[in-house]
Amino acid sequence: MKIESRLAQIGSIKEPVTGAVSFPVYQSTAFRHPRLGESTGFDYARTKSPTRTVLEEAAAELESGDAGFACSSGMAALTTIFSLFGQGDHLLVSLDLYGGTYRLLERIMSRFGVTASYVDTNDLDALNTLVTPSTKAILIETPTNPLMMITDLERVCAWAKSKHLLSIVDNTLLTPFFQRPIELGADIVVHSATKYLGGHNDVLAGLIVTKGKELSEQMAFLHNSLGAVLGPQDSWLLMRGMKTLALRMERHQANATAIANWLLTHEAVDVVYYPALPHHPGHEEQSRQSSGNTGIFSFRLKNAAYVEPILRHVKLIAFAESLGGVESLMTYPAVQTHADIPLEIRERIGVDDRLLRFSVGIEHQDDLIADLAQAFEAAKREIGEA
Ligand SMILES: *Cc1c(COP(=O)(O)O)cnc(C)c1O
Repeated sequence: MKIESRLAQIGSIKEPVTGAVSFPVYQSTAFRHPRLGESTGFDYARTKSPTRTVLEEAAAELESGDAGFACSSGMAALTTIFSLFGQGDHLLVSLDLYGGTYRLLERIMSRFGVTASYVDTNDLDALNTLVTPSTKAILIETPTNPLMMITDLERVCAWAKSKHLLSIVDNTLLTPFFQRPIELGADIVVHSATKYLGGHNDVLAGLIVTKGKELSEQMAFLHNSLGAVLGPQDSWLLMRGMKTLALRMERHQANATAIANWLLTHEAVDVVYYPALPHHPGHEEQSRQSSGNTGIFSFRLKNAAYVEPILRHVKLIAFAESLGGVESLMTYPAVQTHADIPLEIRERIGVDDRLLRFSVGIEHQDDLIADLAQAFEAAKREIGEA
């Protein structure tokens, strides 16, 4: 069955008692045992809970993995994954990394003796230089955010396998609708489901999908032991969002492409970072390994003085963090999402004071372009270049 159909049908054929089309929210944390030594399969909700199970099975299937785990946030999912590692272990991690993941590694995992090297994960020479006998895994974001760097997953996951490293891919930006890393060789996929999977800026959630029996059992142990699991209400809300993922991603992509092209021709804009554009350095790899493009991109203005007035004058577009929802949001990575990343790293990768990131929603692209145009005009007037 095609992925559009599988998404629309999440949970709808799995409630045998009433036949409910929308899978119910089972709020219970405790489950009666029929008799000593017997279980319905549910014992205690941290370990397994019916609504969450439907979501987890759907996630595993959509990502072509063997097991899915729903967590209370994307960071909870990453914490659970990083708990595979311990004293002395070393990780290779995408250079242009999500700020929260960087903070988790540097401020928390470091206390448990886990170290990380930040590297362009598409650069095999750099990876070969940094890999040590203690290296246990590589964590890849592709595209990265905000600079949209692309990693060739098939090539790098094969390299990781040859070095006996686990390949972990953060697939938040593309979702399984556009990209399925496990099919390209990854062992673990992680999502901030708060973003495109939830899709409505109204549920905080994370998902992990694992490939292989042993790894899936290890992850089940960590998920239950750490306990950062997703509750029944939020599991339901996430599934309800995921049902329309295909429609939303197609619209996000179409809008983002139109607006990126409009910005390319704007006199105040220096660079547009979006892998759908043919000049993007990762365009070819992205087109090969993914069936489409995400709805976020970044652009650098020629003059940093434009940033503040543009953010103040946008009306339809909200000046807000986060990404992946139906509403358009624009953020200033250097002072918001990436504030925890040291200036030295930010400058090396290009997250500077002229860079804006745009999470394009599903509004009409003409309205979004008109909003941007008036904000640019107002900024120009204020700066006095008119
Ligand atoms: C938002 C985000 C996270 C963290 O997820 P939360 O749901 O906010 O905890 C991790 N990785 C990426 C790529 C993200 O965008």
